[in-house]
Amino acid sequence: MNLPERVIICEQGARDGIQTVPAFIPTERKIELIDALSDTGVPLIEAASFVSARALPQLRDAEEVMARIKRRPGTRYTVIVPNATGAYRALAAGADEMGVFLSASDTHNQHNVNMSTRDSITALAEVMDIAKDAGIPVYGAAGTIFGCPYEGDMPPERVAWVMEEVLNLGCYRVVLGDTTGMANPRQVEQLMSYLVDRFPETPISLHFHDNRGMGLANILAAMQVGISRFDSSVGGLGGSPTPGAMGNVCSEDLVHMLHELGVETGIDLDKLIACARLAGELTGKSLPGHVVKAGKRSELACAN
Ligand code: ZN
Repeated sequence: MNLPERVIICEQGARDGIQTVPAFIPTERKIELIDALSDTGVPLIEAASFVSARALPQLRDAEEVMARIKRRPGTRYTVIVPNATGAYRALAAGADEMGVFLSASDTHNQHNVNMSTRDSITALAEVMDIAKDAGIPVYGAAGTIFGCPYEGDMPPERVAWVMEEVLNLGCYRVVLGDTTGMANPRQVEQLMSYLVDRFPETPISLHFHDNRGMGLANILAAMQVGISRFDSSVGGLGGSPTPGAMGNVCSEDLVHMLHELGVETGIDLDKLIACARLAGELTGKSLPGHVVKAGKRSELACAN
C-alpha cells in the first residue's frame, strides 16, 4: 500500500463542529476544548469563524475565544472569513491563517451566500488584498467537489477551474470539501490523480463529511494518490443539523487508523480521545466516533 509517512490534520471541531450545534456553547467551554486540542499536538486548529453573528450565533464569541485560548507553539490557528469585515476581525484577533470559501456548484453557492461561484471569486479579491497587506496566508476552501445535493456530480473540469481561480486569487493551498458526504473511494482516487497531475505544486487538503460512512475509506484512497492533508473533527462533531445526519470525519478514528497504518500525525491519541469525551460532554450529544467507545486496538488485551 502506497502511503505517505506523515499526514497533516486540521482539527475542525471548534468551527465546523460547534457551528452545527443548535445550543450556544459557553465561551469558557469552547476555550477549554480548543486548549485541550492544542495539547494533543495537532498542527492546525480551525478555531473560529468570522461570519456575522446574525448568520452564525453559535460562534458569535469568536473574538473572545481567539483572545483567550492558549497558543501552543507548533500549532497554527486558522479562522474562516466570508468578506472584508470578517477579514479585519480575523486580523485583529491575531489569526495565523484565514480561509475563504465557496462552492464548486453554482446552485449550492447561491443557497449558501446568494451569489454565483464566479461572483464569490470576484468578491473574495477584497479579502485577499487585506490579507496580503497584513502578510497573513490564506487558504481557499471549495465545497461540493465530489457532488452537490442540488446538481449531482461535479465535472472534474469544473473542479479544476475552481481550483485555478482560487489559486489565482493568491491562496497558498486549497481545501476541497465533500460538503454532504457524496464522495466514494474510486471517485476520490480518480479526481485526485487528475488534480495532482494538473497542480503538482499545490498543497491540497481534503475535507470529508461522513454522512454515508465512507469518510475513512475516502481518506485511504486519497493517501494512495499522494494526498497527505486532511480536515477532521473531534468526536465526529458537525455536519448537517438534520437529526441523525453524520458530521465530519472523526479525528480520533482517523488518527487511530493512521497510527495503526504506521503513518505519523504528531498527535497524542490518548489526549485526543479525552477531547472527544469533552466534546460530547459540552455539546450534550452522543457523538458518532468509534474509538472513543471501543478503545484503541492496542488496548484490547486488557479491556474486558
Ligand atoms: Zn465541513
